Amino acid sequence: MKDILPQDTPYWQCVESSVREVLAAYGYEEIRFPIVEKTELFKRSIGEVTDIVEKEMYTFEDRNGDSLTLRPEGTACCVRTGIQQGLLYNQVQRLWYMGPMFRHERPQKGRYRQFHQVGVETFGMAGADLDAELILLTARLWKKLGLDDLELQINSLGTAEARAVYRMQLVAYFEAHHSQLDEESQRRLLSNPMRILDTKNPDMRPLVEAAPKLTEYLDDESREHFATLCGLLDAANIRYVINPCLVRGLDYYSRTVFEWVTDRLGAQGTVCAGGRFDGLVEQLGGKPVPAAGFALGLERLLELVRDNMQPQTAPHAYLVLMGAASQQVGLVLAEQLRDKVPGLRLMTHCGGGSFKSQFKKADRSGARIALVLGENELETGRVGIKFLREEREQQAVAQDVLAEWMTGLLA
Ligand code: ATP
Ligand code: MG
Repeated sequence: MKDILPQDTPYWQCVESSVREVLAAYGYEEIRFPIVEKTELFKRSIGEVTDIVEKEMYTFEDRNGDSLTLRPEGTACCVRTGIQQGLLYNQVQRLWYMGPMFRHERPQKGRYRQFHQVGVETFGMAGADLDAELILLTARLWKKLGLDDLELQINSLGTAEARAVYRMQLVAYFEAHHSQLDEESQRRLLSNPMRILDTKNPDMRPLVEAAPKLTEYLDDESREHFATLCGLLDAANIRYVINPCLVRGLDYYSRTVFEWVTDRLGAQGTVCAGGRFDGLVEQLGGKPVPAAGFALGLERLLELVRDNMQPQTAPHAYLVLMGAASQQVGLVLAEQLRDKVPGLRLMTHCGGGSFKSQFKKADRSGARIALVLGENELETGRVGIKFLREEREQQAVAQDVLAEWMTGLLA
């Protein structure tokens, strides 16, 4: 679990505000739900035989003896909220959330035990047009963040019925090659054979790539849905790769699944992953509602875009105050400036001290200028201006026109 320090938070804020702007541009609304839920919720939605539920959840008993879990992902929570609050049935919803998720994984670059996701979930829209919208929205976000080397992979998982037929073929195939399966895959063969396709073991790749493809077992409607999606992406000029091995780690997906991947983050190459989960709402006790969404990992995204960003957080000005009288005048003056100068970032020196030590702090703050208020300035009704980052004559500006002068400086 990582601490995020003041030197890093500006980058986070930058990405977060881009995310908010893009989501607003498509009419998505923010929803907030608790960080803990009943353990049962995740078992029922994510699936008992997934990495998350088998070995990654932070689960504990509370004082009543109820089993609770720190949320490992947001979809289940969002669906639970939606059902409980009556947001889903017979309605169309476009929702998003952002916040920490918790998984007890082996920590490594791009993989943490507390990490942050932006999640988007939609309800009430069954068509491929919505799937395309989700992808377009993410593509717009990458563009806004100056990210142009992510690859979009898509696949269709069909319906539960189509998958059942396919699963039998897949099991037969892997059983015929049983000796080539690693330990984890042997276990998955019994519990959740499609997850073998999702293996991260490179030695298993050839076997997996030669396996029967789900695409060949798709039902007609799913096939058409997928063809429509591809057509929409083509029309919108979004490049994609069809990856028949893309099955996603979670159990609840159906039809469209997609991932945005990069080769710049080693094994942790998936930045954003999502798809359709038409059966989940009913599975969690609601009336059936089609649903689709995605989650994007903010740590991985930040790692990719950090170098493109130059967040501006340093104060424009640092107010140096000499003497008790100047403290009072300075405090009032600073408030007036913040009232009148749009967007001004002004730091007022607190704690007294010599000119020298105050200027040192002014410099370290990163401010462009120091405003100086000493005895001399108090007498003349002015403020001294010293440029800290450029060769410019020191000057004095009358206090009553300082706001105007500062506005000009910032323009
Ligand atoms: P992976 O295959 O990398 O384990 P996943 O399938 O478990 O990913 P999802 O549950 O789909 O991931 O989560 C969506 C996104 O959240 C991932 O694509 C990734 O960007 C991010 N993410 C997932 N787990 C972590 C983690 N432990 N640390 C940082 N980011 C993560
Ligand atoms: Mg995982």
